[in-house]
Parts: sequence; structure tokens; C-alpha cells
Amino acid sequence: MTERTIYLDRDRHKLRTRKIHVRAYRWYAAVELDREGYFDDLSSRGDSADLPTAFTEAVARVQSTSMDRIWYDGYPGDFTWSDGPSWISLPVPFAQVGAAVEALSSAELHRDYSGLHALADQLALPIEDWLAPGERELIRGDDFSVPPGVFLNFLRGKAKKSGLRLNGRATQGSVWVNPTLPLAEKLKRERSPEQYPGWVDRWTGYVEPQDAPFRPWVGGRERNLSHGAQPVQFQRVPTPSGGKCPCGMDRRASWDDGKGHAAHHARWAIGIPLPKDLEWPGDLAVVTTESPIAWRKLTYQVARMPRTENGYDFNSWTYLGEPEQTSDNVRAYLLKANGYVIGYLAAHDDSNHRRWDLIEESDYGDRDDTLRPSIDLIWVADSYRGKGVGASLVQAVVDRFGCQVADASWSTPVSDAGRRLARRVSPEGVWIN
Ligand SMILES: [Zn+2]
Repeated sequence: MTERTIYLDRDRHKLRTRKIHVRAYRWYAAVELDREGYFDDLSSRGDSADLPTAFTEAVARVQSTSMDRIWYDGYPGDFTWSDGPSWISLPVPFAQVGAAVEALSSAELHRDYSGLHALADQLALPIEDWLAPGERELIRGDDFSVPPGVFLNFLRGKAKKSGLRLNGRATQGSVWVNPTLPLAEKLKRERSPEQYPGWVDRWTGYVEPQDAPFRPWVGGRERNLSHGAQPVQFQRVPTPSGGKCPCGMDRRASWDDGKGHAAHHARWAIGIPLPKDLEWPGDLAVVTTESPIAWRKLTYQVARMPRTENGYDFNSWTYLGEPEQTSDNVRAYLLKANGYVIGYLAAHDDSNHRRWDLIEESDYGDRDDTLRPSIDLIWVADSYRGKGVGASLVQAVVDRFGCQVADASWSTPVSDAGRRLARRVSPEGVWIN
């Protein structure tokens, strides 16, 4: 096949001349009817150069069957095409280039569309038959000619477009298929029939004949264990689908199929995975506002957990720029277990405290201006709660500061969980700031 241009009008030098170009691509050829100048010329003189409906319908038939054929031959890409009125392009297999040139020129010059329909008939594949319900083996050579793997890929694409599940398997010389229609796809099509004109459910309720071929089991997961199965029954029951999850996310997060919630919830429950390449000997890491950025970013990620869970407006860790010093020694304690960060304590130093006996609604006591470590926020991954992790984190803070647990100060407001922890580690009362 060679690239060429065929002129349809006698005077090939005039701009209005109609031509057919043939171009070659790797997998197919494009046969293009260029009637741009002709169309503009007629339009400018007030004549209609629009194409008859019978013409565009015939073109659409060839385009659709021809693209299917080229995909069936293994072409993995997509097409650009045009159906007029100034430009018509047909992607065709190389063997059909001559017929396509003939068909397009008699359609354009003589309004004879029989060539286009003959071409469409010649290229048409029995896709409807291939996707008919029922388990069967399509034989290479009888039912199709391309390699079975290529054929199966093609059929999968076609099945997907029709909402079908193919249940396909390629062998050396054949392809086993058993197309079925998932209930959701059936309901979708029945709800909006205008979007699926001519669609008929051939699959639901299909009963395999007694002598249906049985797909040989070749091991692995491909054995059809649903052969002869009864469909599952459904019914409606009220379910608690709304509201907030304990992790703080909305249960009804449907905009991303709940993937965002699933990812967040996993971190909230078992901890935040460590970034690769982070050297972390020991269990506890003390991250300051001057630490390398990877550590400060990790702290920020961890701090998102209590923020979402408790509905705080702000992240308790905001130090994501250049390393900087803070006058009050802001720092975060990260605790690691099983390769995840499972505990987080945010702290700073403070010298403005009152005494509190930890009894709700009781007045605060004496003022105090000793420099003390302040416990600002504690978070523990859900599956590690109730195991003394919070107390260990508080102990780590006071050990490092060089004081006793009872000397630490707690940032107000102290949450219920914080108050329970404070009462356990410091039953005589605490300092608050
Ligand atoms: Zn959740």
C-alpha cells in the first residue's frame, strides 16, 4: 500500500476540487475524503453541500465495523475520525484500502452507498454472537482468526462496553467465554433505556442447556465454580450507614468510594507507616522545629489523626518550612511499634501555671511560674489504646526534661481521656497552663 491522493473532479488545480487521500499508519490506513474547498465554495454561493443522512449513516457503519476489525487485529490504541461534511475519514485495514477508495468516491460522486455498505458487511465481526449468554469454547480458525490472547483482550473490551462480565480464558487454540450480566449493570440499563437504545437483556435468567460444554479445569483460580449455581437473593434492611466514624471521618464518604476514609482509618487504627529511607533506631523519636524536613513532615501526618478524630480546626504541628528555633522549645514525641508511628505527644515549655485537683468544675488553685514541660496533645493509634502508651509518652517527656510526672503541666482544655490519664499518672492533681 502506498500513500496517494486521488482527484475526484476533472480540474485538479481549482481549490474546490474534491480529493481522496490515503495515509498509512502502523496498524491501519486512513482513507480520507477531502471536500473542504468544495464545501466552502458551495456554502459561499448559498448552496447546501451537506451530506445526505444515508451517506453519513453508511459512513458511520463502516467506521464502527472497521475500528472493531482493527482492534480485533490487535491494535491497542484509539482513533480520530471525522464524518463530514467537509472531511470524512475512514480508518480501514490495509487490505480494504482499494474498496474504501472506490466506495467513498461513488458515494460522493454518484450518491451510491452500496459500496460503503458492502465494505461494512465485509468488515463486520459477529460480536453479538461472541457475547451471547452461555458457557462455550470459541475455536481459532472456526470462530476467529487472530491469536487467542489478542482475541480475548478484544472481547473483554467489547464485553465491558456492554456492561457484561466475560469470564474468559484463552487456551493455545481457543477462547472459553461465559458472558454474564451483573445486576447493577442490568438495573442501570433498565433505569435509563434512552441511554442504551435497542438494548435487550439476553443474559439474566439464561439457563445452560443440559449438553452445555464443560470448561476443562486447568488448575489455578480459573475453574468455574459457579457452573449451575443459583443466583443470590437480596432484600432491604435498615443499616446505620450515616454519621461519623470513631476515626472522625464521615461514614458516607461516597465521592471517592470511601477510599479516602479507608486509608485514613487504617492509619488511625494501626498507625502511620514510616517513610522509606528514614533512619529510626530505638522506639521514641523527639522531633523539634529544627529537625530534618522528613521528620517534621511525618509529625504533621501523625498530627492529622487527632485533628480529624477530635475535629480540631488546626493541625497541632505546623513546622514545615525552614528549620527554626522556638522560644518555648516546641517538640513532638513519636513512638514507633511494628514499623508504624503509633503514639504522638506534642509538648512545649511553659512558666505560667495554676494548680488543679482534676475534679471537674472545681476552681483552679495557686499560680506558679516555674519552667515546666507542657503536655499539649496526646494521640495513640486506636489498636494500641488502653495499654499504657500515653503514660509512657508522658514519662519520656519528664525524663528528658529532668523532672517528675507530677511536675509536668497540662495544656487546657484537658480532654476527658487526658484527665483520666492525668489522674492515673498524677493522682494528687496536676499543673495546668
Ligand atoms: Zn473511620
